[in-house]
Amino acid sequence: MYYINKNKKGAGSMIGEQYVQKVIDQVKQRNKGEKEFQDAVTEVLNSLAPVFDKHPEYVQEGILERLVEPERQILFRVPWVDDNGTVQVNRGFRIQFNSAIGPYKGGLRFHPSVNASIVKFLGFEQIFKNSLTGLPIGGGKGGADFNPKGKSDREIMRFCQSFMSELCKHIGPNLDVPAGDIGVGGREIGYMYGYYKKIRSTNDQGVLTGKGLTFGGSLARTEATGFGLVYFTEEMLKDNNLSFNRKTVVISGSGNVAIYATQKATELGAKVVALSDSNGYIYDENGINLDVVREIKEVKRGRIKEYLESVPSAKYVEGCTKIWEIKCDIALPCATQGEINEESAKILVGNGVKAISEGANMPSTLEAIEIIQNAGILFGPAKAANAGGVACSALEMSQNGMRLSWTFEEVDEKLQSIMKNIYKNASEAAKEYGEVGNILVGANIAGFMKVAEAMMSQGIV
Ligand code: NDP
Repeated sequence: MYYINKNKKGAGSMIGEQYVQKVIDQVKQRNKGEKEFQDAVTEVLNSLAPVFDKHPEYVQEGILERLVEPERQILFRVPWVDDNGTVQVNRGFRIQFNSAIGPYKGGLRFHPSVNASIVKFLGFEQIFKNSLTGLPIGGGKGGADFNPKGKSDREIMRFCQSFMSELCKHIGPNLDVPAGDIGVGGREIGYMYGYYKKIRSTNDQGVLTGKGLTFGGSLARTEATGFGLVYFTEEMLKDNNLSFNRKTVVISGSGNVAIYATQKATELGAKVVALSDSNGYIYDENGINLDVVREIKEVKRGRIKEYLESVPSAKYVEGCTKIWEIKCDIALPCATQGEINEESAKILVGNGVKAISEGANMPSTLEAIEIIQNAGILFGPAKAANAGGVACSALEMSQNGMRLSWTFEEVDEKLQSIMKNIYKNASEAAKEYGEVGNILVGANIAGFMKVAEAMMSQGIV
């Protein structure tokens, strides 16, 4: 059993525990081999057990049985021709998980590791994350097992067009609104939007978010996940009489989330000493020079070790897992799922880390979370801490609907207030269910309650 709820064994929690265990067993049986999805369901459901003791009507209405089954799963062939004239075939996915509170919303991931389990776990998490933002958006996710690395711009364009030629049949501004994720940035969204517009003969700007600023994109969307992560974490620190000021921070990854988390943490007075990519990590005891990283990653699309060409005093270590051996006050995993395992968690705790807040989706394994929580370390779970990206995507949808563009400051201000509210709601839900300070449980419960209430009102659908 994992330590997710402190008082899981407390009096009166039997109905909830039995119900949750029954549904977890069904999910494992029905989704064999899908470890990421099984883990995500286990983590969320275990923390919801006390809710069913208070709300037995949810059990009667089969809320959980319905919640763990995607409303729709779309699996499709993505054929394209590479620069050598060779036909390539990839597999495309879109999971439309839950639309109880609004149109499906969630990113597209292009990475060779993408499979049904990963898309399902991401889509499941997205339901609660989107709910937590307080905005009317349901949960979805998608992608393809396509590796954009090393592909020419023309190859990326042809792939995106082929992908959209099928996806376009299933999305729309009031139905399902995809955005970017790993391997899908502004360039890919631009190609997909251009093709959607051509084949659907419509200028539905609200069909995709993360668009370029000249065609319906929102200011501050690019920064939103990284900035939001730091706003959320600052709130959590403040609640515990701490702050980013003068703290040493380690951030994994060097993509969209990591770069803007580094910028905001630095602005708040922290020193970010490490960043990574899938090959290795850099350590700069003087604090990372973000201009150098942005030139490497956003302009040259190069490798993080090239940092040493501009800052020879920094260190580069091959292999990315050892980044968590660097002593720090705050750790922000912003690369990918499963990157903090049991061993890394023990090292972080042993080195005196004060807070771990997740920029990536499910970067800490269940075993790692158990260690972190047992040690009493502040923990910001992904679905709350990295919700800034999707929140800002929903703000982009609003601007598209109104045919308006807000200023950077207006969007940033709304983002800050959303992240503060997420922390407040998660923290209050944790308190209400006797789990003071357990933001993981609080976020799951707060996100779940809104979706459950909407599902209760809408009948068995
Ligand atoms: P990017 O593709 O921009 O960057 C991902 C970064 O992580 C790259 O630097 C990549 O390196 C690195 N990386 C990948 N695998 C590993 C690994 N095993 N070890 C170390 N580094 C690795 O993605 P994003 O920054 O957009 O996304 C990062 C995470 O944040 C993902 O989990 C995503 O789902 C999540 N997220 C993103 C949001 C967004 O708005 N972008 C919103 C909410 C969550 P390399 O170049 O070598 O592959």
